[in-house]
Amino acid sequence: MSTEYAIRREMVEIGRRMYEKDLVAATDGNLSFRLSANEFLITPAGSCLGYLKASDLVVIDPEGSPRSPGRPTSEFRLHLEVYRQRGDVSAIVHGHPPVCTAFSVAGETLDRCVLPEVVFTLGAIPTAPYGTPTTDEPPRIIRDQIKHCDAMILDRHGTLTVGPTLADAYYKLEKIEHTARVILTAKTLGRVRVLSPGQVEKLLEVRREAGLGGKILHCVCAAPASFPGGGVDEDELTRTITGEVIKIIRG
Ligand SMILES: [Zn+2]
Repeated sequence: MSTEYAIRREMVEIGRRMYEKDLVAATDGNLSFRLSANEFLITPAGSCLGYLKASDLVVIDPEGSPRSPGRPTSEFRLHLEVYRQRGDVSAIVHGHPPVCTAFSVAGETLDRCVLPEVVFTLGAIPTAPYGTPTTDEPPRIIRDQIKHCDAMILDRHGTLTVGPTLADAYYKLEKIEHTARVILTAKTLGRVRVLSPGQVEKLLEVRREAGLGGKILHCVCAAPASFPGGGVDEDELTRTITGEVIKIIRG
């Protein structure tokens, strides 16, 4: 079994799981994998991720032109932009999970440090401003922010998660949708408590000691100056959809 065939099989399986777990609906969402410097495997246009076959997947070049039969998803520009910005990323998952998306519809973000496991693995989850899907707007909008995080919400659209493998990028999607559900449930119970700067500091220390890869962001409120990369440095700040400031912790 060739490596490419194994990746095609894995992409089909993850698409099926995304559809079954309500992380996409109908023909929404798409996945891709960097096969080499000049070839990317990507899901086809207009297909339901729940019912793909390995042979449906399309190989495109860095300009998005097909190198195999089929037509790539209309969101291919978004995928190619991430690969251009992140040499460490080999897989991208774009979902339309309902709870994460609802947070952005409501104008609320997931960029607070609430759950320790999420702070440890993903950091604060930013929301990229709105851009018309399938145009060159979303790639332009995420260009800078994707350099600093592995998971983001696309305003009133869906999510973008990236990683070294398809499984890794997919699990990040599961995790942020799960986080959104927990926070939504807490809101219905009355309030959402955020972790203290000291608690976040300890988590980041454990993260550094574990030598975890990937990129994470942190709320400026929870980024203590005692950290390498901590404290407020204007060059390292980025703004979310609501205008809140997020501190970039390079990790
Ligand atoms: Zn989409």
